[in-house]
Amino acid sequence: MANGPLEIKAISAHRGGTPGRDVARDYDVCKLRETTFDNTYQTMPDTAWNYWNLIRFNEHENDDGTISWLMRKDQCMHCADPGCLAACPAEGAIVQYQNGIVDFNQEHCIGCQYCVTGCPFNIPKFNTKTKKVYKCTLCSDRVGAGLEPACIKSCPTGCLHFGSKEDMKQLAESRVTQLKEHTSYANAGVYDPDGVGGTHVIYVLHDARNPEHYGGLPSNPTVPFFVKMWKGPLKWIGGMGMALGIVGVFFHHLRYGSKDIDKEEEKRP
Ligand code: SF4
Ligand code: SF4
Repeated sequence: MANGPLEIKAISAHRGGTPGRDVARDYDVCKLRETTFDNTYQTMPDTAWNYWNLIRFNEHENDDGTISWLMRKDQCMHCADPGCLAACPAEGAIVQYQNGIVDFNQEHCIGCQYCVTGCPFNIPKFNTKTKKVYKCTLCSDRVGAGLEPACIKSCPTGCLHFGSKEDMKQLAESRVTQLKEHTSYANAGVYDPDGVGGTHVIYVLHDARNPEHYGGLPSNPTVPFFVKMWKGPLKWIGGMGMALGIVGVFFHHLRYGSKDIDKEEEKRP
């Protein structure tokens, strides 16, 4: 993913071209949350409307009885084919930039939560007070100013990397090769699922055959069928129905003319 000035690629429920970026935003989303403790290394049970980036702790028992700790950074995956954007009926509430970032603009959000059902990763979270939905923006403001996202900047172990999709894919594949050649992780692989056109957040997994073991990462995420229908054939059929209705009214008027109003009938109480 490239950083630098953001160029819009797609806008929810928008028919025209792609105008310049609207930077309006509800900055109230960054209030602090209290952590919880459940006798594991898990800090929070889940992401929330004001908690967008969670390290999921997973203790997995292997076939040979040994235990593996499978940590995963859970956040918006910035899908190439985002189900949230396809489902959103409010123009400009969700924007996809050319660099791959999928961003929510709460100024235009009507709080319908269709994006919640459209997302195969359970990411957008509703705030009952503001009646808006929020999620990770991949620090679009920082990236737009030529900086890397804050999570990448603050990671002390160099576990996270940021760059163009091509560069990151290459880096991930080289890490997979390294794991296969120098460790016992013969099934290591890159998580970049085709079902959503690939993602702009990708993982190197020790065991790419079972992404579910990493805190419920779906093995084959897809944009829900009803969302594809709603933006595809159903929308087209609805438009056709409306057009046919107007044509029908026109021909009815041509054939029967205006309805005469019974003046006496009209005067009756
Ligand atoms: S992970 Fe969900 S919220 Fe993020 S871009 Fe994909 S569909 Fe949208
Ligand atoms: S709740 Fe989600 S789908 Fe509805 S308008 Fe807001 S961003 Fe769009």
